[in-house]
Amino acid sequence: MLAEYGDEAKPLAGGQSLLPLLNMRFAQPAMLVDINRIPGLDAISNDGSRLRVGATVRQSEFGSSNVVRVEAPLAAATVPYIGHFVTRNRGTVCGSLAHADARGELPLALVALSGHVTVASRRGGERVISADELFRTHFTTSLTADELLIESAWPVAAGGWRYSFQEFAQRHGDYALSMVGVGVEQAQGRIVDASVAVAAVTDRPLRLDEIRSALVGQDATAEAAQSAGAMAAAAVEPHDDLHASATYRRHLTGVLVERACLDALEIAA
Ligand SMILES: Cc1cc2nc3c(=O)[nH]c(=O)nc-3n(C[C@H](O)[C@H](O)[C@H](O)COP(=O)(O)OP(=O)(O)OC[C@H]3O[C@@H](n4cnc5c(N)ncnc54)[C@H](O)[C@@H]3O)c2cc1C
Repeated sequence: MLAEYGDEAKPLAGGQSLLPLLNMRFAQPAMLVDINRIPGLDAISNDGSRLRVGATVRQSEFGSSNVVRVEAPLAAATVPYIGHFVTRNRGTVCGSLAHADARGELPLALVALSGHVTVASRRGGERVISADELFRTHFTTSLTADELLIESAWPVAAGGWRYSFQEFAQRHGDYALSMVGVGVEQAQGRIVDASVAVAAVTDRPLRLDEIRSALVGQDATAEAAQSAGAMAAAAVEPHDDLHASATYRRHLTGVLVERACLDALEIAA
């Protein structure tokens, strides 16, 4: 159906973003392609290096899975912040990635962990898209209209890494004013590797690799966390809107990155 209808068709997964868009007539596809009964897309599996999450796995199942909590703790930590119980019971992990809201928790986690997705089309078979390549800008991915996202892949956490997810929203379940995902590998009091990603303050989730470079080799101290926060605040370019000013969001992002680094480094704030 996607091959035949192209731009005129839309896959329907959990419907938690698409149905509001249809209700408001922001989307008016000629064809809805309900993927919920396609066999084989509803599994979470572990191939040793990645967790593979099929296109119809619900956010609630993902967040409550012991395998996900152990192997991809940063991703699991984001789930309670995504909307509400009822939206998570229906909304899918892959639908959230395909929807590509710049304020989405799961897109942020996929970028922070350097995951990828697999997409399929009748025209091109299957192809793999890295998280960095997937998210283009607000609600825009590098998928073409005839491609279905069939699976997301989440790298399994290696020993020595600790993660922290932090976000601030005006009410729990609201879209966040800023959110950050941090991973840090440390050994003998030194930072060996790191990943710092931000969302809701940029047009897509972004890993700030310059902060990684600055952190690697430093002692695992509160000063390192503080300087990571200052770098993040300087790097983002948020906009004013009715919820918060750009200045506030910038400051908030610095605070959240510092807090996440302290948490991941197991330093009491
Ligand atoms: C009240 C409310 C609060 C919410 N709060 C948050 C929040 O705080 N954070 C957050 O991140 N999200 C939030 N959401 C959105 C929610 O997480 C959605 O579930 C998610 O964005 C989309 O997943 P879905 O499975 O419902 O996709 P759908 O709504 O079915 O689809 C969304 C879009 O993705 C496309 N799509 C879906 N699956 C595929 C696929 N496999 N391949 C290609 N394209 C596909 C659809 O065609 C559509 O364009 C909220 C939603 C509601 C209703």
